[in-house]
Amino acid sequence: MPAKKKSKSKPKGPDFREKLLVELTDAFGPSGFEEDVSKIVAKHLEGFCEITYDGIGSTLGKKQGTSESPRILIAGHMDEVGFMVSGITKNGYLRINPLGGWWPHVLPSQRVVIRTRKGKLVHGLIGAKAPHGMKSEERKKVMEIEDLYIDIGASEDNDAPKKLGVEIGNPVVPYAQFEKLGPKGKFLMAKAWDNRIGVAVAIEVARALKNKKHPNMLFAGGTVQEEVGLRGAGTCAHFVDPDIGIAVDVTLPADIPGSPNSEWGEKLGKGPSISVMDGSLLPNTNLLHFVMDIADKKKIPYQIGSLRFGGTDGGRFATTRSGIPSLTCSIATRYIHSHYGILHRDDVDNLIKLLTEVVMALDEKAVKKIKFGK
Ligand SMILES: [Zn+2]
Repeated sequence: MPAKKKSKSKPKGPDFREKLLVELTDAFGPSGFEEDVSKIVAKHLEGFCEITYDGIGSTLGKKQGTSESPRILIAGHMDEVGFMVSGITKNGYLRINPLGGWWPHVLPSQRVVIRTRKGKLVHGLIGAKAPHGMKSEERKKVMEIEDLYIDIGASEDNDAPKKLGVEIGNPVVPYAQFEKLGPKGKFLMAKAWDNRIGVAVAIEVARALKNKKHPNMLFAGGTVQEEVGLRGAGTCAHFVDPDIGIAVDVTLPADIPGSPNSEWGEKLGKGPSISVMDGSLLPNTNLLHFVMDIADKKKIPYQIGSLRFGGTDGGRFATTRSGIPSLTCSIATRYIHSHYGILHRDDVDNLIKLLTEVVMALDEKAVKKIKFGK
């Protein structure tokens, strides 16, 4: 049989943005332990931004355009949902407290990584009962977090935690790897999309403006401790004192089986979501319409999001100092607050495009109109 002719076109490797997404989702960083993510933010913004920090770790690149004002804040939260080791049993199993909201249904039999004081990563598995001999009521029940535990190679003599350097207080995150799904590889599956995608968007907006004359002062980067109550958003917005606050986060899509709002809710690949409300924020309406108008004018697809529950950093931006006109823009992401989420690359690219245009248009006059309506 003749040898197949080799195709001349080389397969395309990952672009810068994809590599950034892999780097950010791989990073270890539950609430209160965001240092690794902070370093990634600083690394990518250094050189063309001044790197600034609030007192609890929120990390922002400050980039002056043609004017010192207005001050524009665009941030995603750097933390991911995870756990903290809360106890060690006699046999060397680890008990855990949640950092952020978990539905224990998604946890048994999942792999996790624990980081020790010395920075060593210890692998473990959340224990799961086998169904054999289980009573039918027990099978139907969702377990409580208090009943879950991590097995790191536990034994009678309880030496595993000691030998591995695991202590009470160590942080824990899911163990998962980035993968591209779907025929075109545009459905991206990884841990921690909530909210490394927001951090990636903020970094990419700043990078897109690297050589552009934007009429304002931009602060772009990541907040800390969102999953435990929007804490970094408050300290960060107080520190920056912005005229406009834009939070970038994930939101719930309606294109999965059983979704009650499948007729009107957000679908992956149909554009980023601009939120008209969530559990913490009623956005400034002028800002909301300003962003929608830009999307329409530039023909950037978007969807409108409306959530009754679940807050975002935008809610805390809006109520910091004497109140900051704020908005939350999101990427619809399936299965958040579990080991893996799935989002669509086109939505990411479109949100970066949209927010870059928004920053280019936010001059003194536009911000005055947003704030005061004239
Ligand atoms: Zn979240």
